[in-house]
Amino acid sequence: MRAVFNDFAVNMATPKEIRNGKLAQKLIKNLERRHFEAYFCPTAADAVARVLELIPDGSSVTWGGSATLREMGVTTALANAHRYQVWDRDLAQTDAEKQEIYRKAFVADVYLSSANAMSEDGVLVNIDGNGNRVAAITFGPKRVIFIVGLNKVCPTVESALARARSTAAPINAARFDIGTPCQVDGSCHNCNSAQSICNFVHFLRNSPAIKTIKKKLTS
Ligand code: SF4
Repeated sequence: MRAVFNDFAVNMATPKEIRNGKLAQKLIKNLERRHFEAYFCPTAADAVARVLELIPDGSSVTWGGSATLREMGVTTALANAHRYQVWDRDLAQTDAEKQEIYRKAFVADVYLSSANAMSEDGVLVNIDGNGNRVAAITFGPKRVIFIVGLNKVCPTVESALARARSTAAPINAARFDIGTPCQVDGSCHNCNSAQSICNFVHFLRNSPAIKTIKKKLTS
């Protein structure tokens, strides 16, 4: 990965690409210190290819918070590969079927997730309304792979939490049109709305020894 970036930097990198590459190298070091395997993928296509490389043939695969994964093409690539058991809750025909897929996540071979934010020293911050995503990140699937854009990286854990609640949450609130205060004006009001998408706030400090958590960084 580093060799690819070096070639890229010498031949054609823009100032933004140079900065992203340096930030990624710092993040990889900090994530490895926290027992993650981490990779920098300069493009979304690179990230999709790497995700598929990391998933053994025949694996059962599902995910939480699918918007980023769909936009990047991860979910389509998994389905089109025809070598995985893909459990896609968005294709469920009934609510019962969707609920079943939520629960199957806990026995999946691989669980994919984006992140709402990450600190420069490698702490992942995720908020969740129902808790299914942070639960699956925490325990159940044999392997968890995060796909994280460098735009999610914040200087500190505190600023990562602020990003999750005042940037990620209003966007998700608008996506699902749930009428929370953050949907109305774009800022977190620390609400107690029944529709809150921050009922669970999850900090992942280290990759636990019980499973391998991989992180991919994309610019
Ligand atoms: S606590 Fe409420 S207002 Fe704040 S981000 Fe979450 S849902 Fe939005």
